[in-house]
Amino acid sequence: MANEKIPYKIYLTEEEMPKTWYNVRADMKNKPAPLVNPGTLQPMKAEELAPVFCDELIKQELDNDTRYYPIPEEILSFYKMYRPSPLVRAYCLEEKLQTPAKIYYKFEGNNTSGSHKLNSAIAQANYAKKQGLRGVTTETGAGQWGTALSMACAYLGLDLKVFMVKVSYEQKPFRREVMRTYGASVTPSPSDTTNVGRKILAEHPDTTGSLGCAISEAVEVAVSNPGYRYVLGSVLNQVLLHQSVIGCETKIALDKYGITPDIIIGCAGGGSNLGGLISPFMGEKLRGEKDYRIIAVEPASCPSFTRGVYAYDFCDTGMVCPMAKMYTMGSGFIPSANHAGGLRYHGMSPVLSQLYHDGYMEAVSVEQTKVFEAAEYFARTEGILPAPESSHAIRVAIDEALKCKETGEEKTIVFGLTGTGYFDLVAYQKFNDGLMTDSIPTDEELAAYRQTLPPQPKF
Ligand SMILES: *Cc1c(COP(=O)(O)O)cnc(C)c1O
Repeated sequence: MANEKIPYKIYLTEEEMPKTWYNVRADMKNKPAPLVNPGTLQPMKAEELAPVFCDELIKQELDNDTRYYPIPEEILSFYKMYRPSPLVRAYCLEEKLQTPAKIYYKFEGNNTSGSHKLNSAIAQANYAKKQGLRGVTTETGAGQWGTALSMACAYLGLDLKVFMVKVSYEQKPFRREVMRTYGASVTPSPSDTTNVGRKILAEHPDTTGSLGCAISEAVEVAVSNPGYRYVLGSVLNQVLLHQSVIGCETKIALDKYGITPDIIIGCAGGGSNLGGLISPFMGEKLRGEKDYRIIAVEPASCPSFTRGVYAYDFCDTGMVCPMAKMYTMGSGFIPSANHAGGLRYHGMSPVLSQLYHDGYMEAVSVEQTKVFEAAEYFARTEGILPAPESSHAIRVAIDEALKCKETGEEKTIVFGLTGTGYFDLVAYQKFNDGLMTDSIPTDEELAAYRQTLPPQPKF
């Protein structure tokens, strides 16, 4: 089919849809560093993780060897409600940019929760249900993960307690109400309902909260209530595994038309959408079968890859979670209050961190005003109002397409369009009113946050 005209949207039939998740760790020579117990500084064993996480998810978290995981039937049925997500050939964008590059994006915003997070939410909720649990707890920043998980929990009849970063709780009442409509209870974090929340409030009474802090609260509630476990929407190896459905669909769709990408681009917060999108392509790269340029895009105000350090760090501010080796700003890091574009987590997926460290991918940081310019351009050209997070990838896809215009190269660019911007209109309002500014942390500020890194394990 190589010479056939490529349709605007490449869909897959039910037959063609992936039936397995792909675990990229199986093909990594240098495996991601193990989670570590902050008390003993030794790798976490499954038994130690059991009070926090569901049993099957612990297995997936620790499994660096199984290449393919069959997607359970119940999850496949749920996926069918909103998958496959379209792979769109951005003909309009190419035309407007007058670029010889061929641009594709995989759009994950076509479900009520509005992002890719539903792919892992339904998987995690399904394993919690199978274990016979009553419910799960979690944190949410901008609200996409909480919304996705509330949909999954409602579908399966599980209770859900969400700790929502206070600034988002106040600025994004609509997300909150979607979660409540699906039956979740939503508490602004830090709150006075947990020990760790009360401690943080006592030290920083005016804090607007952070993801790390909300994680600590959610973990505390999970371990102190029988029948509950904690679930996390990004960063963890298991989440990348579930999100590989994005990359597997993309690869099947491209293969159908004989298309080989040159550049694959994704935004990186905790790394789950990027990790999922690139997984099968990275697998080929790791096995020496193909080569791709893979680019992670992060905000200049929260630049874990480009200005962080590769070290063991706490995953949460309250220092109750296992430690992970990752590119990190330090767990106390909170991006400047004017940062509106999401992707505000201080750390990064251990899998992507190892791959980046080993030179298998690149990273760039972009300023939020440039990100919103790209978002506006994309909305007016391709019709979709993109999430600010996704717009980081749009920015760099446009920049790469413009480079092709200069050199005349007909590169094929694929990027992840992770979600819609319907719930980010406060940020768009700031941009439209000309009030959006950039704030980039200084080297001194970053050095101060690095002081909070814990003692490094020696094994
Ligand atoms: C959560 C989110 C992200 C960032 O999370 P990753 O784990 O890095 O993928 C990006 N885009 C959208 C729309 C999100 O909701």
